[in-house]
Amino acid sequence: MTEVVLNGVGKVFPGDVHAVRDVHLRIGDGELFVLLGPSGCGKSTILRMIAGLEEATSGELWLNGGVANDLSPRERNVAMVFQDGALYPHRTVGGNMMFPLEVAGGDRAEARERVAELTRALGIGSMIDRLPGTLSGGQRQRAAIGRALIRQPSLFLMDEPLSSLDAGLRTELRLEITGLVRSTGTTTVYVTHDQVEAMTMADRIAVLRDGVLEDVGTPEQIYRDPATVFVAAFLSSPPINLLQATAWAVQDRGVVLDFGPQQVTVPWNDARSPALISHHGGPVIVGLRPDALTPVAAGEAGRTLAGRVRVLEFHGHDWLAYAEAGIPTVDAAAVGPGPASPGAASSGTAGAGPGRERPGPGGLAGR
Ligand code: ATP
Repeated sequence: MTEVVLNGVGKVFPGDVHAVRDVHLRIGDGELFVLLGPSGCGKSTILRMIAGLEEATSGELWLNGGVANDLSPRERNVAMVFQDGALYPHRTVGGNMMFPLEVAGGDRAEARERVAELTRALGIGSMIDRLPGTLSGGQRQRAAIGRALIRQPSLFLMDEPLSSLDAGLRTELRLEITGLVRSTGTTTVYVTHDQVEAMTMADRIAVLRDGVLEDVGTPEQIYRDPATVFVAAFLSSPPINLLQATAWAVQDRGVVLDFGPQQVTVPWNDARSPALISHHGGPVIVGLRPDALTPVAAGEAGRTLAGRVRVLEFHGHDWLAYAEAGIPTVDAAAVGPGPASPGAASSGTAGAGPGRERPGPGGLAGR
């Protein structure tokens, strides 16, 4: 059973660099836990403190029910994979993976069998006798992951292991890592700045910003109910629309969101109205994800924002419409079924092709 607890952990580097500030986290046994945030937010520093490669300057780090601040990396029984997947250049793939088992001692035949099994699981079974210099980046990274997993650590730490690979390979390896980690049940802490990687792999995600923990939850929790505007924006692709408004509770209508030139009413029976009422008369930031908006024809009734579509982008499964909604400094983006379909945002225009300027009146209906 491997549980990791950070109890008010902080890290100040020389020069008064506050890399991590008072972080409280509990990572459960067998969890695939992702630390997510932009460059410099402190993700790697947290991972290195868990590994014992960096000392916390405040707070307590608990591993398996005991305070681990003073334990050496070896005593923590953790395995770590870095971005560049460093391997011993003069050892073969098999030799690299054998190394941790040789250090630990034990039966060599059994060790060889384990190496062969894991290389097969990682899709590099045929490369077991090759030297790292003869492998592609993806194959090297697979071997590095294998070397880290081979000795069955109690905790597996990964620092952006896929960031040097191209998009296709990243998706492929992402699935394999998730499958392997889940099949072994090893508690894993995975660092990334890529929200898609975080959302697709994690049991739970912690979002960090400037060394501060902004939110923790399952991918769905933090996507649907982000704790802060930063989290909402960081997890949205295409970007979420963040619109300034004033909220007014109006008795027989609901909460009216006043965007200045336009208003939208959130009826009383909408689950979001109680939160809005508490801001009655005050400023609010309204987050509208593009996929919660549907382009409709100009003048259509319902909860709509009127705007002129500036650009339509084709994204394969959907079109993304960028519209000028008359709200200062805001572009509304809306996903729709495309200009050929009824009710698409291109109503009122003719002849313009996809992706070209396509000015025209239209509306964005919210859900
Ligand atoms: P990236 O995604 O770019 O790797 P990160 O979120 O992992 O970023 P960290 O590497 O943890 O961020 O760095 C957090 C902050 O601490 C940064 O401002 C960084 O410059 C600083 N920092 C990291 N290591 C040291 C060090 N050894 N000495 C001084 N400052 C450091």
